[in-house]
Amino acid sequence: MKSQEISVTYTTSPKQKLPADQLVFGRTFTDHMFVMDYKKGEGWHNPRIIPYQPLTLEPSAMIFHYAQSIFEGMKAYKSKEGKVLLFRPEKNFERLNHSNERMCIPRVDEGFLLEALKKLVAIDKDWIPSAEGTSLYIRPFIIAMDPYLGVSPAKEYRLMIMMSPVGAYYKEGLNPVSIYVEDTYVRAAPGGTGTVKTGGNYAASLKAQELAEEKGYSQVLWLDARENKYIEEVGSMNIFFKIDGEVVTPKLNESILPGITRRSTIELLKYWGVPVIEKRISVEEIFEAYDAGKLEEAFGTGTAAVISPVGKLGWKDRVAIINDNKTGELSKKLYDTLTGIQTGKIEDPFGWSVEVNVDEILAAE
Ligand SMILES: *Cc1c(COP(=O)(O)O)cnc(C)c1O
Repeated sequence: MKSQEISVTYTTSPKQKLPADQLVFGRTFTDHMFVMDYKKGEGWHNPRIIPYQPLTLEPSAMIFHYAQSIFEGMKAYKSKEGKVLLFRPEKNFERLNHSNERMCIPRVDEGFLLEALKKLVAIDKDWIPSAEGTSLYIRPFIIAMDPYLGVSPAKEYRLMIMMSPVGAYYKEGLNPVSIYVEDTYVRAAPGGTGTVKTGGNYAASLKAQELAEEKGYSQVLWLDARENKYIEEVGSMNIFFKIDGEVVTPKLNESILPGITRRSTIELLKYWGVPVIEKRISVEEIFEAYDAGKLEEAFGTGTAAVISPVGKLGWKDRVAIINDNKTGELSKKLYDTLTGIQTGKIEDPFGWSVEVNVDEILAAE
């Protein structure tokens, strides 16, 4: 795609912003959104920033029927000094194209998309909350637009980026969650769409989530679809275990979503010299380690919670209470370091934090 001018239409009725302690994840949206269209033969075109607003779609729009869509999830942070920071955004756009590839959606120019995102974030910079633990959640997504009921890849798409201010995920400090190992339903199978961020994976996961909640657990831990034996991930988080001083996490395969927080966690552990191994892990092994008193910590990784300690693990009729249902030392250190880098509170030795030069971008407008 050739580099294109991004037109901007400012809102004439800015919305009221909620105080940080009243922010609920994904309920309120900023004043503006980024939009771009695709048409076969024309490519991606008409990139624009416009007021956040409803869409008009035909009931026959392909997205409603055959779910050809993808999304991403990332965050912007405001540092104490007022700097606006993104966390490894190029990794999200790389993954967006990986998702596009699998779902037969045309590729997007990653560099251009990052430029567009920076412009949108600069324009809505006042929406980034700055209280401890808060951030601006960013949701890029693409949907199939053609008004057509035939099953085939669409010829028209729309890409949008919307943003939502979010409050602190942990209001009373890091809190362990309980997870239930699902052994009937599966989230994703080899050859399926597990490695891509597409809505259908979530639709398929709701039933098991509902059943886990009925049993008193907050989330589901998925096993592999072939043998129902090997640990995959937690729906919107990847999973790690600390066993006998060593950190293990399931090796990426054909059904696990490659999380950017997962990758950052592995890189950080290696940097610290903590042994970390990516391998196939059976749920049996985890309970054996627990019985032997060697399961020291468990935690999930994902953009929303960053690090989410696991205090309780249920599987069939078994229950493991991990680290007395308290946040472990390593989980806490990872959380503090990752969020420290994300918010510019501590030095970033990796170049993960990307500053949005708000003044420069707005001056050029
Ligand atoms: C987004 C997501 C994750 C976490 O990925 P991050 O890039 O770390 O946010 C894990 N599992 C699934 C199924 C996801 O959709």
